[in-house]
Amino acid sequence: MTKGNHNLTINGEEIAPGQQKTLMLKMPELYDWTPLSMPVHVIRGKQPGPTLCVTAAIHGDEVNGVEVVRRLLKRSALKKLTGTLIAVPIVNIYGFLYQNRYLMDRRDLNRCFPGSEKGSLAARLAHLVTTELIAKSTHIIDLHAGSLHRTNLPQIRANIDDAATKDLAHAFNVPVILHAELRDGSMREYATSQGIPFLLYEAGESLRFDEVSIRSGVNGILSVMVALGMLPPQKLATRHIEPTVVRHSYWVRAPRSGVFRPHKGLGKSVKEGEVLATIANPTGREEHKVLVPDSGIIIGKSNFPMTHEGAALFHIACYDKPHHVAEQVENLQEVFAEYDVDSL
Ligand SMILES: [Zn+2]
Repeated sequence: MTKGNHNLTINGEEIAPGQQKTLMLKMPELYDWTPLSMPVHVIRGKQPGPTLCVTAAIHGDEVNGVEVVRRLLKRSALKKLTGTLIAVPIVNIYGFLYQNRYLMDRRDLNRCFPGSEKGSLAARLAHLVTTELIAKSTHIIDLHAGSLHRTNLPQIRANIDDAATKDLAHAFNVPVILHAELRDGSMREYATSQGIPFLLYEAGESLRFDEVSIRSGVNGILSVMVALGMLPPQKLATRHIEPTVVRHSYWVRAPRSGVFRPHKGLGKSVKEGEVLATIANPTGREEHKVLVPDSGIIIGKSNFPMTHEGAALFHIACYDKPHHVAEQVENLQEVFAEYDVDSL
């Protein structure tokens, strides 16, 4: 099969140009023999074009992406589709059911790619995704959220040293693009090794819906589809967001345990030496200030009010013009707050 041309078979079923199908990819059943499957929506335009695969909840508790895919599939613009959209609302069904990032064998599915047919449960599922989805796609967008009570500013993570990936990352229309090359067994690492442009969208917090993250995600996927020629140009966000490419980021960790009170919020630019947070003795009067080690913009933040020494509190992207990013973040929040929920 040549990717992007007229022949497409997933799960042993052929999907012809102009057809739409929901396929159920069989997964290992639960131990009470309850059958499980991964629903895969395939929408094919009549005209040949790219095959874009959008996946969500590879980490089962990252539910914002599930809602992004659901809203994306409702869009009437998809009637004018060129090429193919493969949309997978929940990759890690086990984790989704148990509100957990991992699989039942406590493995991280996103560290087991490309997987194997005879390996662990995680390896088998990774193999299923590799053979049935990645192998059929020309482009991939994978949707994530912050883990362990952490919120992420809407951001794209991608290898922007690849020109095609860089263009799509810009098209997604979020304030921050974090350049990353990884060797971690993730779906991104494997797809990138296969020459498939891959965007990882990080936004919001696990087990929570965040409207700005969801709307910005739907909008981002649609703008990437326009950039790929899969959809005709259309009115998306009311303002263009000029992204900033960041090549370096770091975590601020708790210098000691206690009650964590942040002084700065997500998307704010921070200067070296400023007070970022206070960590206090919950039963006494002592307070300890956490200072900004290196100027940048806050792209991830812990929401949990208690902390242990060494816990990751803030994720800061280093950039020489953090105020520019802060402006674009405000832009993003205004743009997506203007939308009516029913229109999405
Ligand atoms: Zn994730």
